[in-house]
Amino acid sequence: MDRVQLNKLLLLQEREEKLFRLLREKTKILEEIRSFSDKLNNIDNEISAIYQQKNDISKDIEKTIKDINTYEKSLKNMESAIKGIKSKEHYKNILRERSKTENMIINAKNRLKHLRLKLEQLENSEELKYLKIDQAKIKDEITILEEDLYSIETSIKNAQKDIIDYENSLDKELVSLYKDIKKRVVPVFIPLDKRACSYCGNVLPIDSYNKIIQNDINIFMCPVCQRIIYKSSDMI
Ligand SMILES: [Zn+2]
Repeated sequence: MDRVQLNKLLLLQEREEKLFRLLREKTKILEEIRSFSDKLNNIDNEISAIYQQKNDISKDIEKTIKDINTYEKSLKNMESAIKGIKSKEHYKNILRERSKTENMIINAKNRLKHLRLKLEQLENSEELKYLKIDQAKIKDEITILEEDLYSIETSIKNAQKDIIDYENSLDKELVSLYKDIKKRVVPVFIPLDKRACSYCGNVLPIDSYNKIIQNDINIFMCPVCQRIIYKSSDMI
């Protein structure tokens, strides 16, 4: 592998690394969407529970109003029945019955007042207000993330096509050599950092280092991590 070939493969590696970064970014976005969706789900459940509670109370209110109407109707019937009663015993019974019904009406009206207050509190509850604010915020976040996802997917497709086009422009044997090395180590090419392999930190012997710097050898493999070391100036 000469320096020109090395440079061509470095550009291929660069393209692959770009694709890898995009794929990683996509995974991150998907994780964020999942996490926001879970949060949204919890908030939706909490809001539904409050609505369910409101619904139950409304039904209870309806039933209580119906009960009051029934009691009042039977109270009216008792009032008109009282007039025609002859028997003292019967009269006493109906008075007892009337007072019982009056108490039931008072209790039902108290209950109605209590239920209406509870419903009003639920409708104006701070909890529901903040849940709805959070719900809207999270929906916005998800929309933004979905837009990001769409754009990153486009970039991924472009990067994949770019790699294929670039590979097709290179010598086939060179590409397959690169792919063979890639089966063992990724990334294949690692820049020299001062005197060391910047992947594993192995400090090169001074004579190897000098050879690389003076371009005395075409490629040099790190004896520790088996990656091909290049100096930054090899990149055109
Ligand atoms: Zn190394």
